[in-house]
Amino acid sequence: MKKVVTLLMTLFVVVVLTIAIAFVVKNETPDNSYGDVSAPITDVSTQDTSNDANSTPETSDEASTESSDRSESPSLPPEQSKDESKAESKDESKDESKDESKDESNTSGKKVISFLACPDNIMHTSTLHDALEKYAEKNGTSVKYSDLHNQGYDFDLMYKNVAKLIKEADISFINVETMIGGQSQAVSGSASVGFNAPAASGEKLVDLGFDIMNLAHNHMLDSADSTYLKYCDKFFKNLGVTPIGYYPNEEDIVIYEHEGVKIAFLTYTEHTNGYTKHSSDKTVIPYMSYSLMKRQIKLAKEKADLVFVVMHWGDEDNETATGQQFKDNYYSNEDHVDFLLSQNVDLILGMHSHVLETCEWRTRADGKQTFITYSLGNFISGMNYGRNAPGALLSLDIVKDGDKVYIENPMLIPTVTHFTQGEATTSRDTGYRDFQIYFLEDYSEELAKEHGCHRKDDPKFSASDRFTYENILKRFEKTIPEEFLPDYIVDLFG
Ligand SMILES: [Zn+2]
Repeated sequence: MKKVVTLLMTLFVVVVLTIAIAFVVKNETPDNSYGDVSAPITDVSTQDTSNDANSTPETSDEASTESSDRSESPSLPPEQSKDESKAESKDESKDESKDESKDESNTSGKKVISFLACPDNIMHTSTLHDALEKYAEKNGTSVKYSDLHNQGYDFDLMYKNVAKLIKEADISFINVETMIGGQSQAVSGSASVGFNAPAASGEKLVDLGFDIMNLAHNHMLDSADSTYLKYCDKFFKNLGVTPIGYYPNEEDIVIYEHEGVKIAFLTYTEHTNGYTKHSSDKTVIPYMSYSLMKRQIKLAKEKADLVFVVMHWGDEDNETATGQQFKDNYYSNEDHVDFLLSQNVDLILGMHSHVLETCEWRTRADGKQTFITYSLGNFISGMNYGRNAPGALLSLDIVKDGDKVYIENPMLIPTVTHFTQGEATTSRDTGYRDFQIYFLEDYSEELAKEHGCHRKDDPKFSASDRFTYENILKRFEKTIPEEFLPDYIVDLFG
């Protein structure tokens, strides 16, 4: 009997243990249908992140997504695979920089956003013909110079050296000096007729990764009304980037937000080459009227953490930051810079003179500092003179440290717009070809000798305007204070 009881008790213990083990095992090992749910947390977050990135991209990434989508459109030159890889690498680099800024915010509470500004992008006839011929060469087609709207363009060589820097910047800006005006009028690469650049040139800027497109300049009314301006604004918005300069109403200022930091981008032009809008047109053309600027800056300061002001000003080909930058001939005799300092703006981004001018920190009314570039020269242009080829890209950090948002580390990265002398195909074509932006650090004596404006026997060009490597270096040395140049450039000065 004892044996039977012992046996029954043993059986009872075994059954209880079996049930208990089965219960524990069931709760620890889900069946396959729930396998994903109990996947490690790191995997879930990775998956969630990628889903979020696909469904709700950040503003700056929308551009690259949109642009790679557009590169599937038949209206674009067949650069699809390259563009897609560019878009991907841009996303990657932007993600990396975001991670870095997150790391930094973990340790110091600071967030750093990189900003890059590129100057005048001018599509002259020679520039356009160069891109048309490059496309035709690559694709075995012929160029019809009579219809420049509906053709393939290849701008890859022009921008390839600077493409990485543009992609790496969290926010990148460019001055679109020649409007994408649409097909209501022919493409024109001539300032005297009025510029109208083909859609492909604007699509290229978007593919490169530019976020902010400036449209307020002396060519903004080149259609002799606001047609190009309105078209160009819509064109870039449709591609997912942010144009500035078209104000249906004066309150329509652009506030660009990146990782919670809000930057107001205001933009003004000194004149519009004598063109005006129609009298019935309610569009606000942003001339440098202090009353307009005052109202818009006030609004910007209410809505944004920082106020960046683009000033299309100065005298063309004048390397000295004087003239109209300091005297408003249209509305008053006040000094533009003093006026903007009195309004406590954070950055003054000057352009238009097509030559490099100086830059500086200035103390503003509230005691803080404002950074000013008077002119960054040209980015792409087919202008004739040696002085029009050197340019600079402005890079700076936007810092958010607790409640404080400010800019620091402004640096000018010197560039040279290179081209050679080729065959002119039409009367407006100078025949300049093989356009390519070089960083000054990669430029050389040999390249300078090949430059298309290296025409030392032409009496039009003074000795200092001759395109020699030495003259280029001198231009940077005398124009930009060393503290705003990278060390490797200062070393070149010897
Ligand atoms: Zn201009």
